[in-house]
Amino acid sequence: MHTRDALDRPLHDLRISLLDRCNFRCPYCMPESEFHEDYQFLTKSQRLTHDEILKVARVATSLGVSKLRLTGGEPLLDKKLPSLVRGLAELPGVEDLALTTNGMLLAPVAQTLADAGLQRVTISLDSLDEDVFRKMSGGRGDLATVMQAIDAASAAGLAPIKINVVVERAVNDHTVLDLLDHFRGTGHIVRLIEFMDVGNRNGWRMDQVVPSRELLAKVEARWPLRSADRNYPGEVARRYEYADGQGEIGFISSVTEPFCGSCSRARLSSDGMLYTCLFASRGTDLREPLRNNVDDDELADILSRIWLQRADRYSELRRPDVAEHHALSKVEMYRIGG
Ligand code: SAM
Ligand code: SF4
Ligand code: SF4
Repeated sequence: MHTRDALDRPLHDLRISLLDRCNFRCPYCMPESEFHEDYQFLTKSQRLTHDEILKVARVATSLGVSKLRLTGGEPLLDKKLPSLVRGLAELPGVEDLALTTNGMLLAPVAQTLADAGLQRVTISLDSLDEDVFRKMSGGRGDLATVMQAIDAASAAGLAPIKINVVVERAVNDHTVLDLLDHFRGTGHIVRLIEFMDVGNRNGWRMDQVVPSRELLAKVEARWPLRSADRNYPGEVARRYEYADGQGEIGFISSVTEPFCGSCSRARLSSDGMLYTCLFASRGTDLREPLRNNVDDDELADILSRIWLQRADRYSELRRPDVAEHHALSKVEMYRIGG
């Protein structure tokens, strides 16, 4: 049975941020100027243990969650990831188990993760232009390594692979068509994401957003597209297929075409806060009850109470032209994952 929120949206997905650390410093997420050497990331004892994560996930599935996604920060910095994946894959009710990663550390463990029960990966890759890619990873990414990761994930059957591209005006928008061209016909699905005003530290400005409408026109001028149905209610990407049968692309337009009406996601941060919106300024601490040995029924009560009260629809209410709207104190993306 699905628990439904105040706007009648079911609880369907749980995104689990494993850690707040990252080996990249993408300026749109963790700019180096803010996340410098002295930055205080969470300590191990502040982060949820794998047992605690498994408990939250198990209880969430009893409330209707069937999709789990591991994210971060960079989830592959967690060296014990395969055993967590195995535990999550064994939970009854889990139909979809996926991972979002920047791909730098993926190739050597792709097969191990697949064997442990991981079904799919999303790899973030903003450009195939070496210089642009390096800049968008904060000088830390190596393009060849990420390309190898895509091949390794494909060989391990972690498919269909999704490639997430955050599009920023005058940063990488001029390289999008080349990237699409490269992945056409490979079976990998490129998703073009509007630069979002998540958190308060990425210096977001509306004039850096390339509206999906504008990008779509650019893509269609090169390759005719036809609109495809959503795979499931609540899917965030608008799907299109190349008319010549060379595959699929998606547009995630949370700034210019919000999709709060069907948003079915809860997010667990690495320090155990549960958030019901990517743009939340407040969450609910689950770590304390977990460390006080809350039992499954009590935890289910806590989770369902949170979901029943949920009325978030930040993107629908947001007016990008009103500065105060995105100046609200919001949780950072690297803490709760994308
Ligand atoms: N480190 C992993 C990665 O980059 O794939 C997982 C975490 S990352 C926060 C998850 C996704 O959020 C990535 O695809 C990233 O590109 C996206 N993201 C981060 N900041 C964003 C922003 N300001 N606007 C849109 N997408 C963003
Ligand atoms: Fe790290 Fe992912 Fe954020 Fe880039 S988008 S800084 S890879 S967490
Ligand atoms: Fe969901 Fe919040 Fe995004 Fe709306 S703004 S789609 S409620 S995460």
